[in-house]
Amino acid sequence: MPDLRSTKQRRAIMAVFNQNKYHLAAEDVYSLVREAIPRISLGTVYRNLETLSQQGDLFKTVFPDGKARYELSGLDHHHHMVCLGCSNVVDISECPFSQEVREQINKEGFEAIHHRFEVFGFCQNCRQKDSDR
Ligand SMILES: [Zn+2]
Ligand SMILES: [Zn+2]
Ligand SMILES: [Zn+2]
Repeated sequence: MPDLRSTKQRRAIMAVFNQNKYHLAAEDVYSLVREAIPRISLGTVYRNLETLSQQGDLFKTVFPDGKARYELSGLDHHHHMVCLGCSNVVDISECPFSQEVREQINKEGFEAIHHRFEVFGFCQNCRQKDSDR
């Protein structure tokens, strides 16, 4: 039920995404949104993030660390590289969904709605830490 309070919560959450870099985990959103709504609970943040994802305002990705990251859905289509050391997420603007792949999919009579492409590894910071040891 969209009551006044949840409208205010969702507006505050969207403001967090408009002000900050994307790929926020629920815990990140929670600590940032508390500046606007100090008494909001983590559970409420989770619920609102789910609703905003279902409404298409946010785009949700679940990475292999089991944590979902959210970002604004209006961003240009892109992919992600994910650091297995620090869970940092960086955008890849290039899309590997080529014309050749499209043609093959069409040939199967398949209608592609969505695709994923994620690269996993270690970021520069984590690699440096490793070689320092
Ligand atoms: Zn890293
Ligand atoms: Zn992204
Ligand atoms: Zn793509």
